[in-house]
Amino acid sequence: MNQSIQQITNWPWKHIWRSKVPHKVSCFVWLLAKEAVLTQDNLMKRGTILCSRCFLCGETAETVNHLFLHCKFTQQLWRIFLNLKGIAWTMPSKVSEALKSWEEAGLQAKNRNRWRIVPASIWWAIWKERNSRCFESIENGVQKVKLNCILLLCFWCNQAYSDDTISIIDVLDSI
Ligand SMILES: [Zn+2]
Repeated sequence: MNQSIQQITNWPWKHIWRSKVPHKVSCFVWLLAKEAVLTQDNLMKRGTILCSRCFLCGETAETVNHLFLHCKFTQQLWRIFLNLKGIAWTMPSKVSEALKSWEEAGLQAKNRNRWRIVPASIWWAIWKERNSRCFESIENGVQKVKLNCILLLCFWCNQAYSDDTISIIDVLDSI
């Protein structure tokens, strides 16, 4: 197998495991990229009958790619980082493609390792909010979820680079 084919075949798996986030989060991102997270579309494939509605926007069926990429609620989290870097972005149709595009967009990031943590922060914050609405009937507004996402990013950056504790502003400025 030549190297370019091998790179595509390996994509995005080695990047997922290299990202400096907790192991359970890497596992979650890996499942997402394989579209195997237990969203309603996947539960229905397993035979569970549901009235499938996205818990965040209520407008369409909940699929992995809708919930984590295209939902108007989730898009607001992506926009925090895209606006910060002034990046024009067309959301890809699949999670694995989004990881690839994010890597390419990160060529202009100041710190690519921190940039790579961003999708996991968005997805973990979205999944927690979705589960809070689904299982506990607790609904947080988008501003709260945005803040959760930024705090996760900060927390994971501080864990990965524990030389000194950096503030939210420093983290956002450094990606
Ligand atoms: Zn939605």
